[in-house]
Amino acid sequence: MSEKWATAAWHGISLRVPTDWSLVGVSGDEKKGYMRVDGPIASALEVRWSTAGGRPPNLMAKGREFLSTLEKGARKKPFKFTSKIKQEGDAVRFEWKADRIGQGPLAYCAQCDRVLIAQMVSPRDEDVSKIARVVLDSMRDHRSDGWTSWALYGLEFAVPKGYAIEKHSLMSGYLSLAFKNRGKRLIVERWGLAETMLGGDSLADWYRKDILPDIKGFRTEIIEDRIGEHQGLRVTGTAAGIKQTLKTAAASLTLHPNPTKLTGYAWWCEASNRLFSVRATHLDGEEVAEIVRDFIKCHN
Ligand SMILES: [Zn+2]
Ligand SMILES: [Zn+2]
Repeated sequence: MSEKWATAAWHGISLRVPTDWSLVGVSGDEKKGYMRVDGPIASALEVRWSTAGGRPPNLMAKGREFLSTLEKGARKKPFKFTSKIKQEGDAVRFEWKADRIGQGPLAYCAQCDRVLIAQMVSPRDEDVSKIARVVLDSMRDHRSDGWTSWALYGLEFAVPKGYAIEKHSLMSGYLSLAFKNRGKRLIVERWGLAETMLGGDSLADWYRKDILPDIKGFRTEIIEDRIGEHQGLRVTGTAAGIKQTLKTAAASLTLHPNPTKLTGYAWWCEASNRLFSVRATHLDGEEVAEIVRDFIKCHN
């Protein structure tokens, strides 16, 4: 196989997929959700997850239930629905055939208390069996360091415990994932066509125009800085303004103090012609933006 591989990850559930496969649909949250990664022709990978409720589920029963739902959906179609299911170690594997073919595992992770059902669905005449094996065998639902993986369109990183996704934009030309951890925010963005975006302006000019207006309640300073081998910026901010002062005063009486600092990094990766920005609001001494920045491999 001469495929190049990347990671697709959502809510910590990660799989290796060929680089020309794209995460096109996501829904739900970390407890119950769905993600779909489409191949370049007509195949697709689907992953569903749901909380088990603190007890190991009967995966065989869940698998049969899943197949019977698929069979009901296939009833009106001209193809006969056939399926197989078997226990394989801790997991259950199934395959089915109708107007399309599908295969995949069901697995349970006791640590995350999640049941995962993944399947590779393809037309009857498209042979994806080799890719399917690699993709499905690569499925993980948590990292060993306790952080949560997120990955799409070649942008891969992880966020610390406590950060939940709040908003996202999944266009290959503009990716944005915004996370929230009580009062703290973490925003990771990537733009394609960097040269067009900059339009001859300096990186700092672009940042002032495109990003600073979204930063509210912080007095910021932009400093030109190398980020790895790239031309980049470091942005620092301190909570400012009456609203922030009141919020901070109110929050200081609770267990969850309001962030008083902002740290951001932005850089221009010429090799990939992309712009990257990572910024976080945080407490004094926290280095979330630095760690997330260091996860990102912007070019090969
Ligand atoms: Zn897990
Ligand atoms: Zn780069």
